[in-house]
Amino acid sequence: MRVRVAGLVLACAGLPAAGADLSPIEAGLDYHSYANVDQFRTTHIELDLRVDLEGKVISGIVGLELKRLDPRATQLVLDTKDLMINDVTQKSTDVLGATAKNQTIWVSRPFHLEKPDHILGSALVIDLPPSRKPAEIIRIDYETLPTAAALQWLTPKQTAGRHKAFLYTQSEPIGARTWIPLQDTPQVRATYKARIHTASDVVAVMSAENDPTHKRNGEYAFVMPQAIPSYLIALAVGDLAFKETGPRTGVYAEKPAVKAAAKEFADTESMIAAGEKLFGPYRWTRYDILVLPPSFPVGGMENPRLSFITPTVIAGDKSLVSVIAHELAHSWSGNLVTNATWRDLWLNEGFTDYLEGRIMTAVYGEQRASMEAVLGLESLRRDLAKLKPQDQVLAIDLRDRDPGLVFSDVPYQKGRLFLEYLAAKFGRERFDGFLRGYFDHFAFKSITTEQFTQYLTENLLDRFPGTVGREQIAAWVNDPGLPADAVLPVSSAFAPVDDARAAWLAGTLPAKQIDHGWVTQQWLHFLDNMPAVLSAAQLGDLDRAYGFTNSRNAVIERSWFELVIRNNYQPGFARLQEYLIGIGRRLLIEPLYTDLMKTPSGAEFAKRVYAKARPGYHPETVAAIEAIINPAAAEGSE
Ligand SMILES: [Zn+2]
Repeated sequence: MRVRVAGLVLACAGLPAAGADLSPIEAGLDYHSYANVDQFRTTHIELDLRVDLEGKVISGIVGLELKRLDPRATQLVLDTKDLMINDVTQKSTDVLGATAKNQTIWVSRPFHLEKPDHILGSALVIDLPPSRKPAEIIRIDYETLPTAAALQWLTPKQTAGRHKAFLYTQSEPIGARTWIPLQDTPQVRATYKARIHTASDVVAVMSAENDPTHKRNGEYAFVMPQAIPSYLIALAVGDLAFKETGPRTGVYAEKPAVKAAAKEFADTESMIAAGEKLFGPYRWTRYDILVLPPSFPVGGMENPRLSFITPTVIAGDKSLVSVIAHELAHSWSGNLVTNATWRDLWLNEGFTDYLEGRIMTAVYGEQRASMEAVLGLESLRRDLAKLKPQDQVLAIDLRDRDPGLVFSDVPYQKGRLFLEYLAAKFGRERFDGFLRGYFDHFAFKSITTEQFTQYLTENLLDRFPGTVGREQIAAWVNDPGLPADAVLPVSSAFAPVDDARAAWLAGTLPAKQIDHGWVTQQWLHFLDNMPAVLSAAQLGDLDRAYGFTNSRNAVIERSWFELVIRNNYQPGFARLQEYLIGIGRRLLIEPLYTDLMKTPSGAEFAKRVYAKARPGYHPETVAAIEAIINPAAAEGSE
């Protein structure tokens, strides 16, 4: 996932602050799931769901095929949050009269929901008789509640097309349990099939095999033949059109957006080819992109075969498509080799940021990739300045915290720098060979930080002794900050930007003469490194020259609005309000709300705008923004 919420680390309500629990972390134990995975493991999921866009409810049946690891186990424990469970049955062949051929008997099983935890939800406990059979099949009849955190139900007015309602899911990290009762832990992988019944005038798509030629009739069937973790199960329903961009790539979007999206993402096939050359075969057959309405809370979500992408990366000039390289890269790091718990998130995101950089270099050249790497480092440094030491480590202690609210640049950018360090020490070629071997060795497996470091030690450190020591690896994984010998990115393209900024600040360069055909990344560097205080005259000067307040580029606008807020530049506020209402991508709006809250007038503005924006935000965005603008209430509400 591409989130990068700058420096936002929130302790969860009523729970001890991070690090308060001094007991040792058990590697591989998922502190964010109730599932008894040592006794049962899901191998296959069958969904038969009705999506009611008007009533805003998903209802139906999930079938779980489970491998039984413990013959004596008498309870199956699943994860749920805000779900209504109607019935639980078990497929049985042991029942009297069930001997007729092909006859399936479903036996009701007693079940109950445990008291809910405000982060984890409620354990669903199902009583089962002990059994020596290797597998069980359980069916659960259930429906979702309006509070389901992974679901955003959009009214027609909240979509680009404005005619039909829209639903999409965002399950990472622990949201799948709010729309499917299951073992919601990334260490369990399952294949899935789904039948989706919905209104006949909308299209359903999933993180599975999609058929763009399927007739629009309200009945859709999906198969995901590769075993994936629960957080990658994804669904969207709306007035979607499809446009092919290559032999195995295409774009789904609302009709008004599909043409621009296909143009913006025309290089996707080149990106896949670059990824395959570097990291081994693309193992998911097709790679399609679903462009969501602007409320989508993250930049992109790597749902396999169908990345979910924010429309804010469509700038008209491909300048923000590193998000596509990022989500595509997850086809190797994250979807193929998956973090076993959310503590190990850096295995997904650090690797993916590294792979993203390599793909961007291959497709768009060294200059562009190095600028993006430097911007990433600048962002990491801003995060490190705000984060507590215990949250600056790669394998972070997330116990008692909501992993969805603790994303920072550390697992992404520090993880990436760790791999850059290894590549620099062992040489690009050796390290590439190591990476290909790693993806093969752990393909379709979920692994811990400790499994990675062991594999790294055996296959790189010990093979080329004297290059990097174990203590250096331990420092990267366990110590706060950046190691002194980190290999940091540099970009020659930023030197003229720094010179121009300095000259403009000194009054020796008029605003109009700053631009020498700069690309987006140079403008971001220009804006992000401004001094704390600028005058209204200076900002007006820049705005007149470059129209930042009304930029077409949502990321440049974000950097500009940070200056607007910091310097209380009044002409920018009307557009700032539109921006905050129109966009739900957390990376873009959370820093702005955070900055607004630093002054009384800003806080008043933030609260007023949020009241208008809230109905259009995804529940995940709502939770994050409320924690910023009203932390006391956010704590008290749970
Ligand atoms: Zn990611």
